[in-house]
Amino acid sequence: MLNQETIDIIKSTVPVLEQHGTDITKAFYKRMFKMHPELKNVFNQTNQKKNRQQEALANVVYHAAKHIDELHTLAGVVEGIAHKHRSIGIRPDQYPIVGENLLAAIKEVLGEAATDEIINAWAEAYGELAKIFIGEENALREGIKERGGWDDYKPFIVARKVPESEVITSFYLKPQDGRPLPTYSPGQYLSVRVQPTEQANTQIRQYSLSDAYSPEYYRISVKREAGREGLPDGIVSTYLHHEIQEGDCVWVSAPAGEFTLNLESKKPIVLISGGVGLTPLTSMAKTWKQQGAIQNLTWIHAAINGSVHALKEEMRTLDKENDTFKCYTVYERPTEEDRENKAFDKEGYIDLLWLKQVLDTKEAEFYFCGPEPFMKAIYNCLLKWGVQESSIHFEFFGPSMALEEE
Ligand code: FAD
Repeated sequence: MLNQETIDIIKSTVPVLEQHGTDITKAFYKRMFKMHPELKNVFNQTNQKKNRQQEALANVVYHAAKHIDELHTLAGVVEGIAHKHRSIGIRPDQYPIVGENLLAAIKEVLGEAATDEIINAWAEAYGELAKIFIGEENALREGIKERGGWDDYKPFIVARKVPESEVITSFYLKPQDGRPLPTYSPGQYLSVRVQPTEQANTQIRQYSLSDAYSPEYYRISVKREAGREGLPDGIVSTYLHHEIQEGDCVWVSAPAGEFTLNLESKKPIVLISGGVGLTPLTSMAKTWKQQGAIQNLTWIHAAINGSVHALKEEMRTLDKENDTFKCYTVYERPTEEDRENKAFDKEGYIDLLWLKQVLDTKEAEFYFCGPEPFMKAIYNCLLKWGVQESSIHFEFFGPSMALEEE
């Protein structure tokens, strides 16, 4: 427990964190990777180059300082981060390394303004935060072991590699040890660790499970991220698409994540996906079917056109086989073939007027995932419609960000 004096000091640093938070986290990661280059094997270095991780951490530090006397209000954020940490393999003994470098970065950026009093208060507060994260991550590790899972990574063989669209390919991953796989909640993801030959470090990326549970395999569906405007191709997705073949091995950690379908709620379910964001929602829709769930389910998928719309046969099969399932397709720029095949329900983008037309009610549980502008648009549509925040669930395919009301 932090005493009132420490709490007051931490709160007094909130304006500074608002202004210099990202400078501090940039300095922090730079220091940490210099002192501990082995951690480059764990942290996504592309997110570092894009400053995404630095911004995400600055946001967490800022909110932790702001709510230091009511940390329970950050439970959702802590849960998401703890899942990610457990998934990528962060260990309790790495927390002091982070703490030491974070304090040094605060000193480096704030200079004399970082008095001993401030540094000591932050050392204490960091200790408290670390305890919360370590506790949560230990509990997750225990939980996964109880469900027959494993700690850290284990080798999986690519049993099948199936193209699903021009840019998305599914990988059916079977454990090399042949043991039955632990169950997961639809919406969860795996961390996949690979070592492309031209990369100095191992690379870890998250991929949502894209199928209903099977004890024999996990399926992920990966979009090939082609580099645009002079930027390099995505490291892992390109490697998986071009280099990894059936029979090859990749290292995988046990399922993680708190973006999961709640079948306890009796409200109708609405899934809204954009592009490759359909992967966790495919798992949700197929699990809904597998479990004979009673809620009505509507799935709206947005894609540029039919050529990049992956897994559409699976969506159509669900539609054909279930009276309580409805699906809609929104194509931004349909091809002539899409028009001939009447393959879409709406041209352009999803908007509130159209959502209101196709959905019977706003009293539903909404789940969405897709590119960032899509996520912002959907979030704001739902808020404008008056959907309760507690019924809005979403996943970012990158470091978590806050979606803001416009
Ligand atoms: P990276 O090397 O990480 O590059 C990503 C992008 O950044 C590329 O477009 C690249 O051109 C660009 N870039 C590279 N360097 C720079 C630079 N210096 N400045 C600016 N831009 C740069 N993906 C899926 O395909 N399917 C899924 O089901 C899926 N599920 C996910 C679930 C979760 C919870 C999360 C967090 C992510 C998920 N992702 C999924 C995304 C996935 O983890 C990877 O981020 C994605 O595959 C890209 O990784 P990469 O190594 O190919 O690209």
